[in-house]
Amino acid sequence: AASETASQPATIEDLLDREQARFLDMHPRSAAAWEEGKKHFLYGGPSHWMRRWAGGFPVYAASASGAHIRDIDGHDYVDFALGDTGGMCGHAPEAVTRAALHQLQSGTTMMLPTEDSLRVGEELTRRFGLPYWTLTTSATDANRGAIRIARMITGRPKVLVFSGCYHGGVEEAHVEIRSGRVGMRNMIHPNGVDHSAVSRVVEFNDVAALEEALSHGDVACVLTEPLMTNFGMIPVADGFHAALREITRRTGTVLIIDETHTISSGPGGYTALHGLEPDMLVAGKAIAGGIPAGIFGVSQEIAERLWKIVPMVNPRVRQSAHLGIGGTLAGNALTIATMRAVLEEVLTPVNFELMIANATRLAEAAWGIIRTNNLPWHVTQVGARAEIMFMPRPPRSGADVIAGRRGDLETLLHAFYMNEGILVTPFHTMFLMCPATSSADVDRHTEVFSRFVDLVRGASV
Ligand code: PMP
Repeated sequence: AASETASQPATIEDLLDREQARFLDMHPRSAAAWEEGKKHFLYGGPSHWMRRWAGGFPVYAASASGAHIRDIDGHDYVDFALGDTGGMCGHAPEAVTRAALHQLQSGTTMMLPTEDSLRVGEELTRRFGLPYWTLTTSATDANRGAIRIARMITGRPKVLVFSGCYHGGVEEAHVEIRSGRVGMRNMIHPNGVDHSAVSRVVEFNDVAALEEALSHGDVACVLTEPLMTNFGMIPVADGFHAALREITRRTGTVLIIDETHTISSGPGGYTALHGLEPDMLVAGKAIAGGIPAGIFGVSQEIAERLWKIVPMVNPRVRQSAHLGIGGTLAGNALTIATMRAVLEEVLTPVNFELMIANATRLAEAAWGIIRTNNLPWHVTQVGARAEIMFMPRPPRSGADVIAGRRGDLETLLHAFYMNEGILVTPFHTMFLMCPATSSADVDRHTEVFSRFVDLVRGASV
């Protein structure tokens, strides 16, 4: 409970108690729904990811439109979480809704391609540069498929990732370095998988460590985001991509770039914007406007090496077609129809310009408040995405995040924001714009951030 007196300023814990009490008070229907949900779901909600909201429990959504969500207690939120990127097209975008309704009435999943897929394939190649694509039902599955292919064509067992990464439910990537040890991300629980057999993990931006890790000749692929977005934002150092590409080529290691989040950079992601040359590229989440979907693309060379091992099937010879990548519903007609709508009408160059302008507006206003108040914090922006971090400088690696992160301030900010009608992704302080985000939405954030600063300045931080 708050124990503030004139001589004893409130602690962050006191302030969090206060915000959580205010949250409970404001959300009686969501509180009751959560109690009921806990009776039937392993972690309260239909997905364990839904339990992380700092108010103490999630609000239950009644409806969502554009950049706004309304909860069952009648509160409106400016949504900068956008479903942790799955909603980057905005909620209920008109073009996606139209395409989905049409396809729902024409059949959703038939194990047959539709003509829409031709336009999707053509556009993916035009945007991202890679010639051949495969759909999955999630970015996780796209990463799994890409890893499988890398192992098939190299005959090597290991996957190299950078400490602090997240690539979905991919076993090989659930590793980090902490206190010199390699273990599960956040060391949160034990795991039956022998990570020393399937994973290598080094710090991001560390060329010497990368060189050493790939010198053993047992790494099938490097799986990385172009810059890291899942442990706060870790910008990429000058020259790192050139070194990564050179070392992976020299050691015969497949380079997989995961653009699931960094597609916020622009229509062709960070890869197109900065001329990267991955062997494979993965994306997902927003790519079909909120209908589950993942994609991965491969280079001509990777495709040819794969076809030597698993050729195109000749149906006359009942040859085994088993490849086991992606699920039964991958590339279904509904996903394809909505993906086409996204590529042609929603995540367009014009909309990216709007989204990036709003992210810049948010980042610059936040920087202004940080500088005026002399706070040891910073803001990083990747196109339509921005992140406020409670550290004086951008981290260079996962180790820097572990050393400098202020989890208590993050939690307080999240709880305060919920009470003030702002949603940010619950895992860190990341803001994403959709085409419907307005400058007024951004200015509402600026005003709430400013009051958050007033709140913590009066506390013993
Ligand atoms: N790659 C990256 C970079 C991600 O951030 C995530 C999810 N946060 C994934 C892959 C996995 O996406 P999904 O959970 O939709 O499979």
